[in-house]
Amino acid sequence: MNRTDLLQIAQTYGNPTYVYDAHKITSQYERLTNAFKNVSNLKLHYAVKALSNVSILKLMKSLGAGLDTVSIQEVQLGLAAGFSAEDIMYTPNGVSLREIEHAAQLGVKINIDNLSILEQFGSKHPEVPVCIRINPHVMAGGNHNISVGHIDSKFGISIHQIPHVLRIVELTGMHINGIHMHTGSDILDIDVFLYASEILFNTANNFKNLDFIDFGSGFKVPYKKDDIQTNIEELGEKLSTRFNEFCKNYGKELSLNFEPGKFLVSEAGYFLAEVNVVKQTTSTVFAGIDSGFNHLIRPMLYNSYHHIENISNPEGRERYYSVVGYICETDTFGNNRRISEIREGDILKFNNAGAYCFSMASNYNSRYRPAEVLWYENEAHLIRKRETFDDILRNQVEVNLATTKKEKKIPKNA
Ligand SMILES: *Cc1c(COP(=O)(O)O)cnc(C)c1O
Repeated sequence: MNRTDLLQIAQTYGNPTYVYDAHKITSQYERLTNAFKNVSNLKLHYAVKALSNVSILKLMKSLGAGLDTVSIQEVQLGLAAGFSAEDIMYTPNGVSLREIEHAAQLGVKINIDNLSILEQFGSKHPEVPVCIRINPHVMAGGNHNISVGHIDSKFGISIHQIPHVLRIVELTGMHINGIHMHTGSDILDIDVFLYASEILFNTANNFKNLDFIDFGSGFKVPYKKDDIQTNIEELGEKLSTRFNEFCKNYGKELSLNFEPGKFLVSEAGYFLAEVNVVKQTTSTVFAGIDSGFNHLIRPMLYNSYHHIENISNPEGRERYYSVVGYICETDTFGNNRRISEIREGDILKFNNAGAYCFSMASNYNSRYRPAEVLWYENEAHLIRKRETFDDILRNQVEVNLATTKKEKKIPKNA
């Protein structure tokens, strides 16, 4: 997919629009499976929350992936996309026992991350095997906003509470089929990750008949040229060796599971937006686009860097710009960016727009959510229509205010 293809997509489907390159998703999937080729049972469960369009889920299915889901609705989406229940892992945090029971009824793999629900679920449904989410208290990343392994994290059952888990298992007769961790969204240091894996192996030895160990995700992808990224090949080599050794000692060939979201889809996505206005101020040149944090919130929420290019004028002379949105709050996509000269009406392309971009979009300022396009086998396919005014009004119930006032009775002794 080149610049001309993207411009053509912008022309055909309008702006703003998300575009996903199926080829990039496939090559990332293959890179990961290839890194772990020495493990006999490798399962990749794509984390639906990163990008949950049904066509993307179907693409994942065609590659051989299962799904990692965090809500009952994501489970239902997976089933609607044609996944069988046993290929769906349900890893919620802080949901009701009722919702977990619903997921169990649908037949998906259940992952429980607190002792209260573990005990209640085990008492009521000892016949349903469950996986437990462990917090090894290891931070495998630098950014505190997205590391979930630290001591005060709300995620997982503390590694120090394993004795209590064992007590619950014994008293309820429930069966633990997997051990899981997901320590954060940025695996920078492979040794730290391997250290956390050792804690997982130690934990696993407490349980007799496991089927899998799930190492979650957190693979880092590059956002800029020369950005640090997880060395998947090195991780694959080291963890595979250690995993195979563990299985030998454990006496059973377990499955090694991962739940990549960002790694599979981040770099495959582009966000296209049109420039509404170029505005010179005393201190900068603003390029105001037909979008805002209602469509792409990561720069404002996480301070994430998304590379921006002007695909309408690639040969133009470069200048420094502040690229901003149209929301009535500060919504800066990028400050002091060197971009080839921007003219009103030009199309800007944002990179790394596959993960946590559309899936976090909203209708703030009563704007429509963008269209989504999948670039598959050298052709553009619309996979989500742009919203319309009907979508803004949907589910709103109009109250006849005049009538309400008339019917209101004033209490006697008010
Ligand atoms: C969000 C999430 C993932 C995916 O994380 P990425 O950083 O996008 O790869 C995996 N597992 C669980 C439990 C998650 O909540």
